[in-house]
Amino acid sequence: MKILVINCGSSSLKYQLIDMDTEAVLAKGLCERIGIAGSKLTHKVPGIEDFELETPMENHDVAVKLVFDALTDKDHGVVSSVDEINAIGHRVLHGGKEITQSTVVDQHVKDVIRSCFDLGPLHNPANLTGIEACEKIVPGKPNVAVFDTTFGMSLPEKAFYYAIPTEYYEKYGIRRYGFHGTSHTFVSGETIKFGHLDPEKAKVIVCHLGNGASISASIGGKGVDTSMGLTPLEGLIMGTRSGDIDPAVVQFLCNHEHITVDEALNVLNKKSGVLGMSGVSSDFRDVEKAAKEGNHMAAVALDAFRYRVAKYIGAYVAAMNGVDAITFTAGVGENDAYTRAFIVENYLGYLGAKIDPERNKVRGKAALISTDDSKVKIFMIPTNEELAIARDTLRLVQG
Ligand code: AMP
Repeated sequence: MKILVINCGSSSLKYQLIDMDTEAVLAKGLCERIGIAGSKLTHKVPGIEDFELETPMENHDVAVKLVFDALTDKDHGVVSSVDEINAIGHRVLHGGKEITQSTVVDQHVKDVIRSCFDLGPLHNPANLTGIEACEKIVPGKPNVAVFDTTFGMSLPEKAFYYAIPTEYYEKYGIRRYGFHGTSHTFVSGETIKFGHLDPEKAKVIVCHLGNGASISASIGGKGVDTSMGLTPLEGLIMGTRSGDIDPAVVQFLCNHEHITVDEALNVLNKKSGVLGMSGVSSDFRDVEKAAKEGNHMAAVALDAFRYRVAKYIGAYVAAMNGVDAITFTAGVGENDAYTRAFIVENYLGYLGAKIDPERNKVRGKAALISTDDSKVKIFMIPTNEELAIARDTLRLVQG
């Protein structure tokens, strides 16, 4: 079985073709600048030189056609015909309160994705465009939608309701959904497997620390809480997002800066986080470099980021009345050994959690990074959202 995974942005399309017998990536690539001048396809196959093609892509239909052409090309292709590709898995941001799991795409699913355009205005329209392009270019091939919000759909009422009038939930579906759901499902599942934990009862906290950052709590792989909310703005301090903030700040900014609510939200989404605090960059490596060179606010931004992570871990230990394992993942979580050690050593001593400095040097592969006598197991496990999407797609098309 070969599954194509597609992740459409408004002007981009990322793809991976995965052989599900071995879970090996046969080819992957990116179409950039779709609908804009200078469109480009980059197609990568392990062991051969990358194939690059600069050609106009006026819409996602053209991009999808080019992807299938690249995958079946006689020089840099990896299958002899599209018939060898069994199904397509699509990453979709928002499924609203109606969709609670990955699902084979039909008209109803497309209608729901469309009805959630205002909940995911940057992603949902692009995700639907990608699905419709595949339906047009390779008709009859099963399409599966894997939603970023499904991890959050198992949250109990006490965790997902906001304390605002319930009529807004009923009218508009305003609740906490959570994002990075595919990553949280994948990494919490891998933590249970890799750590030989009880698949029914294991209490796991996953720290997905990248440019976007979120934390989840799960019991037996089922989400019980997660730090992002109605949108990916809530929760941790991120590359450019503020995370948790008093909503009255929005009103204050609007009144004093003479800006609209949309403009204030733009500040919180795109100009805040470690970028806004440090004034240096949204990239954690740049902020770390500036902090080392003596930039005070860069150091404060990183300190605040780590402190917020630790506060959420504490909250989720309380929410689950215990924790068996804490796992770090994503760009910072996978690569920044210092941040992992800092959080465990400065804030998690009360749990009896102890990091092993040698094990913590790991790069690129799942590892236990706590000491043998640590009361909580700490792991670093690389996330792999594409593989998670492909696994769900396979499960659904195999019935
Ligand atoms: P992601 O969004 O998961 O791709 O993560 C991207 C973030 O990970 C960027 O801000 C990078 O600076 C950060 N990152 C990658 N490698 C390291 C590292 N070795 N130390 C600190 N941050 C890193």
